[in-house]
Amino acid sequence: MSVVVQTRRGEVAVRGLSKSFAMNGQRLNVLRELRLDIRGGEILAIVGPSGCGKTTLLRILAGLEVPDAGEVLIDDVPVHGVGTERAIIFQEPRLLPWLTVLGNVSFGLDVRGDSKAYAEEKARRYIRLVGLDGFENAYPRQLSGGMAQRVGIARALTVQPEILLLDEPLGALDAMTKITMQEELARIWREEEVTMILVTHDLEEAIYLADRVLVMPKEKGTPIRVVDIDLPRPRDRSENRFV
Ligand code: ADP
Repeated sequence: MSVVVQTRRGEVAVRGLSKSFAMNGQRLNVLRELRLDIRGGEILAIVGPSGCGKTTLLRILAGLEVPDAGEVLIDDVPVHGVGTERAIIFQEPRLLPWLTVLGNVSFGLDVRGDSKAYAEEKARRYIRLVGLDGFENAYPRQLSGGMAQRVGIARALTVQPEILLLDEPLGALDAMTKITMQEELARIWREEEVTMILVTHDLEEAIYLADRVLVMPKEKGTPIRVVDIDLPRPRDRSENRFV
């Protein structure tokens, strides 16, 4: 009898990861021999004081920064190899102002060389998923901050990434939009089952969204801790709303 073990996509293994930068003639050790396993389909939040290395870690996971030592494997494939799809979302969605919502969302597929019809169909699906149907032909200047960030999320999802990396994605939004967008992210996560790695300053956001929270210390040499968030899922706080 054979047993088929179904492994989930989007598993991340971080092994012995170190990174330092030259700073005023000295080396600043930002990450030191970090080891971390991220389960396929989980939401991991990364919190910690400013300057502790959150963005550096995210950029290495995205393949945008090369570590001094160690490696990152996504579904057993090194991050710097081909064959894994990652998408990163920044605080500012950086939309292309001369393209419509549809043009921005399909952009990643267009440059990848997918057919126009395929790219458009896919883009429309994700525009719908983030609740922006009807806005396909709008230009970025016509959108609110929350809507623009939704376009950024739709654009990231079109390439169907194994992992979605989010660097303070809601940091620039007002409090009410932020709450709505947190719920949106939870819904998108439920529908897409994509692994999400979320850097945030907002501990409440981390606890609401994440399965686990990685707490990075400011003081180098202090161990990095991973905290399990043992709250019921699926994430739905509508009953607790008092606004
Ligand atoms: P966080 O996201 O937690 O605020 P970062 O990862 O952005 O922290 O930065 C960690 C430390 O590394 C900071 O002290 C920052 O100044 C430094 N750093 C980050 N990127 C570079 C770089 N490209 N060159 C030099 N120093 C850098």
